[in-house]
Amino acid sequence: MPVETDGASPALYRARGWWRPERLDELVLRHAAGAGDRPAVVGAQALTHAGLASAVDAAAQGLTDLGLKAPRPVLVQLPNSVELLALTLALLRMGCPPILAHPALRRHELLPVVADLAPVAAAVPARSGAFDHPEMVRELRHHQSALATTLVLGGSEALGPGEVDLQEALGAAAPSAQRPTHRTQAGDTALYFLSSGTTGPPKPVPRTHEALGFVLRHASVVAGLGPESVYLAALPATHCFTCAYPGVLGTLASGGAVALAAEGDVELLLDLFESVRPTHCALVPALVEQLLEYAPLRPVPRDLKPVIQVGGARLDPVTAGRVRTELGWRLQQGYGMSEGLVCFTRLDDPDEVVVAVQGRPVAPGDELLVVGEDGRPVPAGEEGELWVRGPSVITAYAGRAERETGRFGPEGHYRTGDLVRMTPDGNVVVTGRLKDVINRAGEKIPADDVEALLVRHPLVRAVAVVGFPHQIYGEGTCAVVVPDPSADGQPLTLWRLRRYLTEQGLAPYKLPDRLLLAEELPRVGVGKVDKAAVRRLVEGRGCPPEPLPSAVSSD
Ligand code: AMP
Repeated sequence: MPVETDGASPALYRARGWWRPERLDELVLRHAAGAGDRPAVVGAQALTHAGLASAVDAAAQGLTDLGLKAPRPVLVQLPNSVELLALTLALLRMGCPPILAHPALRRHELLPVVADLAPVAAAVPARSGAFDHPEMVRELRHHQSALATTLVLGGSEALGPGEVDLQEALGAAAPSAQRPTHRTQAGDTALYFLSSGTTGPPKPVPRTHEALGFVLRHASVVAGLGPESVYLAALPATHCFTCAYPGVLGTLASGGAVALAAEGDVELLLDLFESVRPTHCALVPALVEQLLEYAPLRPVPRDLKPVIQVGGARLDPVTAGRVRTELGWRLQQGYGMSEGLVCFTRLDDPDEVVVAVQGRPVAPGDELLVVGEDGRPVPAGEEGELWVRGPSVITAYAGRAERETGRFGPEGHYRTGDLVRMTPDGNVVVTGRLKDVINRAGEKIPADDVEALLVRHPLVRAVAVVGFPHQIYGEGTCAVVVPDPSADGQPLTLWRLRRYLTEQGLAPYKLPDRLLLAEELPRVGVGKVDKAAVRRLVEGRGCPPEPLPSAVSSD
């Protein structure tokens, strides 16, 4: 285990040159001058590095004209697009930290974030599927009056008060030689990721320019990114993995090009593999499984040898082996978190290592401790909870969550809630988790977040939400409900519960996949629900899925 630090010390990280006095936007756009005519974005919205830098200049000017000023943050909930990229880079430059939100998040998740960080603007699509994002922002504004401006991508014909067309706002200003002034320092918060955390709604994770730049530079080297690289962003680029580990920003900082896929649809993805011929692509295990299933149905370009980075949830070794044998692609396993640590296997690791482990830290200085229930390190190679601190890792959340010190150990370690063991060569193997979180296709669902809403339903007396093995998502969500006796005769159905949760503003991926009715919940000791016993109950009962009306199955 690398222990190179004497504790969490920004002064030491700067003295060692790990944290550099450089803003992220400068790092990402540094090829605009020397290699400006090389592609930065390929596909439908193609741009060169110089073209991207001009788009960012114009965007920063347009946003400044709208009155956005440092250090006020901006909520950014956009699908993968040039607009997302230009807006994010412009906000980095202006010192208005973007709060990068997964497009699937809804009022329930975003309200606490907006209440806490008081963004002055929100950038959202006009609609995605059946969901009306501008309407959600109007609801958020009722609770946070600072949220004065909505930048809407597409659908400009239906703009209401305080709503402006995003493309117009980004493109209207002629790029001027005089760039908007900023007083942003490398040590300032560059952006916020939203961590699913371990409990409740998402927690804002503040990442400084210097600390995120550090991770991004090292992750880019370990991924083998360079000027010839083409990175296909198949997962939402608002998530740390696709954004900066090394992701879109790391590829651009390496002089390469990115292709921005709007949706994680597997057919579309295979089309993009053919048309943009990526050298790199980051995926979650559920998408890898789907690709493997689809690949025999259509020819996959055999001369293509992309590096497929897989993380977010555990990839089982058999599926891992199939990436090379059936697709002929190179696998790089990854394990990381919004809070900072990034691990990858190395491109020259033997196959038997790559399929079996989740990788080792990409950057120097991060200190990994595997601890037992008593908070003391376990003997080498044994399972325990992973605690981590160092130059990649935050020491506190932002907003109200800053006071939630329980996630940080007495010496500043971030307690991941993940169960791991370390191999003798320093690789992490993720073996399970302590936190009560369901990992559904890489999306994290803190059980208590859904339980807290369900228990307020008039037909529910008690509820426990647990994961169960799911063929497509790896893990699905089952709500085990004890109905309220006074609800006699009123059927409690999965459909009803999902509709209720949707009305409460819960993100669609958190809606239970299954419902199991029980007479009571198994409990331990002082009456705490015994989640292990609930899981056994679900597995034992088979818990058949119920067909859903399409109106509530997703949006
Ligand atoms: P997020 O901050 O949303 O990226 O979630 C980070 C969490 O995802 C980690 O703490 C793990 O619980 C989980 N995770 C990430 N990568 C892996 C992996 N390769 N295997 C298992 N769990 C993972």
